[in-house]
Amino acid sequence: MKKRMISFLLVAALLFAGAPSAILTAQAAEDPYAAYRERDHFGFVLSANRIKYMSPDRLGEWMGSFDQIYDAFQELTGVTPLDGQRITWRSSQENGAMWIYYGEPSIYIGKDHVDYYIREAEDNDGFTGWGPPHEIGHVFDGLPGGFVREWVFNDEISANIKAVYAVDVLGLKVEHGGKLINTLEELYDYFLNYGPEHDLFLCAMINIVDEFGWDPVKKTYRSYSDGSYTGNYEGASKTSGIKYNDFLDRLSYYTGADIRAAKYFESDWLKRFDARFPLPATD
Ligand SMILES: [Zn+2]
Repeated sequence: MKKRMISFLLVAALLFAGAPSAILTAQAAEDPYAAYRERDHFGFVLSANRIKYMSPDRLGEWMGSFDQIYDAFQELTGVTPLDGQRITWRSSQENGAMWIYYGEPSIYIGKDHVDYYIREAEDNDGFTGWGPPHEIGHVFDGLPGGFVREWVFNDEISANIKAVYAVDVLGLKVEHGGKLINTLEELYDYFLNYGPEHDLFLCAMINIVDEFGWDPVKKTYRSYSDGSYTGNYEGASKTSGIKYNDFLDRLSYYTGADIRAAKYFESDWLKRFDARFPLPATD
């Protein structure tokens, strides 16, 4: 009530001073969510009738978890995307679950999915869903149709490697196939049995991380810019096959193991990925 009075006086004072935009400014101060709309790395633009399902405190935690994901991906990759520009989450009239445009830059949540994410986050402490770490993962990979980092041999696999990292180190709760998941074991089981074929690469990454931890993966990402690995494909135009083989070579280099070995890429997985991302024929 006291706050309202101060706002009223502020409006009156500013009106008196002849500032036409003062009413909007003062009304924003009444918004219980206002303090949470801008975080370190993200802004949050979702209509009030969507976020009403979430308490202001929980909204703050939810947004804070996105900052944690961003910070974790900086730690994993050693890069700061888009020169550190703040990224805006927006609801969209379109119905896709979640996608990203870089122009602004923004991450969009389809209108039918806003309620889902918000209700789940309100009901389950630590829930972010798979979409947010996946989309933030894309942000760290570069710009679709423009600059793309050399480690991206496949957009979706690359974004998902980062989401796997976020689940592991932050213990995020995500959902796959109607099940809440927050461990590498559960992710492995899901990818192995229910995911699309490209998720088998994530199973291999989980096998590698299980033995070596994330440190060699961090070194692999950093090696693209720190000169610690010169690479076998210097000067070649980087096809997805070259990028894929380069990524595996770097992982082998930093783990000190042949990560193409059968115990990491089980069954015929390696054969399938080799066929999908072939090296160009040499003459
Ligand atoms: Zn994606």
